[in-house]
Amino acid sequence: MTLAPAPADWLLEKSQQIPRGVALTGEQTLSYEELESQTSRLAAGLTTQGVRHGQIVAVQLESAEQLARLFYGTLYLGATLLPLDPALERGRRDRLLATVGAHCLIARSPSSATGVAWIDPATPLVKAGDGVAACTPRPLAGDGIQLIIATSGTTGEPKGVQLSAANLAASVVSSGQRLELHGDDCWLACLPLFHIGGLSILLRCLAAGARVQLEEGFDPERIWRQIVQGGVTHISLVPAMLDRLLRQSAGQTPPATLRVVLIGGGPLSTTLAQWAHDAGWPLCVSYGLSETASQFATDCSPRAGLVAGRVGLPLTGYEVAIGAAGRIRVRGPAVMRGYANVAGVLGQGLTQGWFETGDLGRLDEQGRLTVIGRVDDLLVSGGKNVHPAEVEERLMQCPGVVEVGVAGRPDPVWGVILVALFNGEVTVEQLTRWSQQLPGHLRPRQFIRTGKLPRNRMGKLNRPALLALLDQ
Ligand code: ATP
Repeated sequence: MTLAPAPADWLLEKSQQIPRGVALTGEQTLSYEELESQTSRLAAGLTTQGVRHGQIVAVQLESAEQLARLFYGTLYLGATLLPLDPALERGRRDRLLATVGAHCLIARSPSSATGVAWIDPATPLVKAGDGVAACTPRPLAGDGIQLIIATSGTTGEPKGVQLSAANLAASVVSSGQRLELHGDDCWLACLPLFHIGGLSILLRCLAAGARVQLEEGFDPERIWRQIVQGGVTHISLVPAMLDRLLRQSAGQTPPATLRVVLIGGGPLSTTLAQWAHDAGWPLCVSYGLSETASQFATDCSPRAGLVAGRVGLPLTGYEVAIGAAGRIRVRGPAVMRGYANVAGVLGQGLTQGWFETGDLGRLDEQGRLTVIGRVDDLLVSGGKNVHPAEVEERLMQCPGVVEVGVAGRPDPVWGVILVALFNGEVTVEQLTRWSQQLPGHLRPRQFIRTGKLPRNRMGKLNRPALLALLDQ
């Protein structure tokens, strides 16, 4: 795939090449021509509010539609978008805005950070027929920072991952080689757009001239209906969403129009993967981080020999290596330019272009990557390293278990003992008995049946919150 260097150019190109092609279905359905013209007016509206090329625009809104429009608007203006989780607590948000040097915040209430202007989202940036002159596009140069993604910050302050226009373009090109996407395809976007997994859907569709079907939140019933109607060709899901969709569809096979079900953001259990395969869902299991502008390894044929954590070959252009103590390292064109708020210089977090992912993994003889889990989650019990994700994967295989999270409880003899919190149609006694078949070091000493496990908006287990549950 050859692409113009900056994502803003893709919008201009598509509005000329396929003006009537459907670009976005949300509150309204917009063709590429309409999207370009509305984006140009939105960019003009932002300029009226004082936003300039090269500035950082932070957005903290619930509405996917508003955030998507602002994303296109910042591309057009050559501004940097910093999309924020609506749940990000004010103090952390304001410290992040101050350290990255945000120019303005579009949110329901202003920031207390000095020098951050406030734009009330109720301000009509585009007024019908107001004659605001359309804005001339000013795409960023390749090395200009187009996006700053805030990491979830479960283990500290959120970090601002800086992604350049060239990083985003490289990610679109390399993922496009594994996930076919054509102009008449439609990608259903139900992942939060403050996350790279959600925003990369908008980028991929823009580059291909495909349609984005924008969803506000995740409603499995509605989404399954749309899949059955046959209009959706691609969908991105985190494992917890796949689980809900499979329950919703009650084992039915999706129509052949659905070609790619991209799963990522966290470990996919073999139990869930098997269930999806058996029901005929075309899974592509992917692995990546905000720091790599989304996936850099993807396996679209995981049915052949299901292996827990296997995410396939690295995408073209990426080098993946296993460093000290099994840590996954990656180098390639979509690897971030550094963190915006860690020492404030580009390149922080990288060593000669290599980024340490913070995950443990292994490469097989064919070069396929398997992700084991996060270094930070590792537990040492009785002198043995135990990865909670590995124990969770095993326990998910017990019939009736719906969700399981493993935490370490301090213990004077063992250092920590493993405690499994779970829910589903299985009792503590049944799961305890079932777990006897596991190797001793992977066998939890205690099981607690509980309600829904604490997860963040991306469906990831919130491990500190899991620990807190142990003390209740
Ligand atoms: P923080 O680093 O603050 O916790 P985060 O978890 O939101 O932020 P992301 O970039 O969203 O960071 O997520 C990347 C992480 O998600 C990876 O480092 C890895 O731990 C996990 N992950 C993503 N895909 C997979 C996968 N297919 N299998 C296992 N883990 C995955």
